[in-house]
Amino acid sequence: MRYSQTLLPTLKEIPAEAEVTSHRLMLRAGFMRKLTSGIYSYLPYGLAAIRKVENIVREEMNRAGAQELLLPMVQPADLWVETGRYEKYGPELLRFQDRHERESCLGPTHEEVITDIVRKDVHSYRDLPINLYQIQTKFRDEIRPRFGLMRGREFIMKDAYSFDVDDKEAEVSYRKMYDAYQRIFTRCGLKFRAVQADSGTIGGSFSHEFMVLAETGEDTVVFCQECEYAANMEKATVKLREKEHVESLKKLEKIETPGKRKVDTVCEFLNISPSQLVKTLVFMADDEPVAVLVRGDRKMEEVKLKNLLGVAEVEIVDSDKVYEITGVPTGYLGPVGLAVKIVADQEVAAMRNFYVGGNEKNYHMKNVNLGRDFQVDGVADLRQISSSDPCPECGAGLELTEGIEVGHVFKLGTGYSESMEATFQDSDGQKKHFVMGCYGIGVSRVVAAAIEQNHDTNGIIFPVPLAPYTVIILNLGLKDEKITATAEQLYNELQIQGIDVILDDRDERPGSKFKDADLLGIPFRVTIGKGLSKSGLVEMRTRRNGAVEEMTPEKVIPALLSRIAAETLEKN
Ligand code: ATP
Ligand code: MG
Repeated sequence: MRYSQTLLPTLKEIPAEAEVTSHRLMLRAGFMRKLTSGIYSYLPYGLAAIRKVENIVREEMNRAGAQELLLPMVQPADLWVETGRYEKYGPELLRFQDRHERESCLGPTHEEVITDIVRKDVHSYRDLPINLYQIQTKFRDEIRPRFGLMRGREFIMKDAYSFDVDDKEAEVSYRKMYDAYQRIFTRCGLKFRAVQADSGTIGGSFSHEFMVLAETGEDTVVFCQECEYAANMEKATVKLREKEHVESLKKLEKIETPGKRKVDTVCEFLNISPSQLVKTLVFMADDEPVAVLVRGDRKMEEVKLKNLLGVAEVEIVDSDKVYEITGVPTGYLGPVGLAVKIVADQEVAAMRNFYVGGNEKNYHMKNVNLGRDFQVDGVADLRQISSSDPCPECGAGLELTEGIEVGHVFKLGTGYSESMEATFQDSDGQKKHFVMGCYGIGVSRVVAAAIEQNHDTNGIIFPVPLAPYTVIILNLGLKDEKITATAEQLYNELQIQGIDVILDDRDERPGSKFKDADLLGIPFRVTIGKGLSKSGLVEMRTRRNGAVEEMTPEKVIPALLSRIAAETLEKN
């Protein structure tokens, strides 16, 4: 590609709308432009990076025996009604009616559509296992679209679905995808880890997420310092420590706490530790209010709450709404005599003689005990794990770090095939439900995650396998015949070698050509300038470490080929 003929609008200034590095750099490097909230147009440079990821994904999916197809984005609501997800999915599912007033939605994921195909066209165990995938645009009406391609409303996903005769075979399919994902993210040049994950609205029995480790990650990942345990914080189970001495129940008392509404001010006033106090938080769980009890020094984990209640969404309510629901002003809410559904963290259920809000302005209660003073509708592990908790598997210390979820593999079981009556005839002549799995990769998010991990103050530093162009040739003497002829020749030869190359033939100052090359993050830069007439040499620079070498033009291609090979994991 010739830079002079390319739509590659780089920006010098830092765009105000971008909060994270990858978003800033993608806007500055002319990857994409925002059309509206969470929806972007991919410009040629951005699309080229996305295609690089897609190609790696495609090669590895095909190698793992999956077959590519392409499903529609618009889906009839009827299919979603069959699985119950038309109700359950929540507002991320964009619903609309067509001209015939038929309920429809934009596909956020395709379990229903693929199960419909398989139930109509696959009938025998002889046709199994089967794994079908697509690389396609998804739409999810995210509540907070942000960070550019990291959390868009419209984004590109690879989604695959496997169908097997039984659980054991389904696990083999799952393992194949897990291994394929390891290869995919390794080939993309990412630092990542697979962790145990929550199954979310997709459902299913177990799942793993592939996390790119980066500070800007929206997820927190928990690792054991000793064993192999690694989990998303949403999923990580807190082990309840056994209490050695259990106090006897003391008399319930109402105590005055004038103006003390926050955990720390109440504790300071009463001279107690936050671990003796229980917070009462109010959430809307779909349409029902629920009070949640957790220890004063703990954080609630919303995903665990959602799973306990079996709802699509939970959202904490503000103080006005708490007052509207309970009649109690903020900071004084407690479970004793509270007339809403109450659930408690397991730790609270194990506490004795604790403190809670008094359900009246300026009052708290002490010596409160679950069972004696109030009842709950459920007890479960509802709080976030912390670095001071023991590993749930081996008891050793834990480490917490941030991660970006780039892939997710689920073992689904027969949930979808049962609700959609998708069956096959097994070798014993019996009709059975397909055992399913599903496997997603956020293709556009992978590009953002790669940039989060690979950049410096001057711009992007693409790993070779994801770089839209592997080489940029700078022609610094457009009017110099020798320089231009050398640049053109190298440009042609690199293309013949199948290397993605861009020739910067713009009439720009050298300074801005250098700046753009750095910003774009192209792994290798070949500069052809005055040195050519003086010493017959051109300059080759590696973006990642800034290493510069001078060489004759003939040496450039062999030198590039060996460096590219060193940075690219073989396909086979
Ligand atoms: P998240 O927890 O980040 O919302 P998810 O669990 O909803 O992700 P999946 O349903 O597993 O995501 O989708 C498969 C993959 O699609 C994810 O691993 C992620 O990489 C990508 N993805 C999901 N939502 C978005 C989004 N809004 N923008 C870009 N990529 C996304
Ligand atoms: Mg999501």
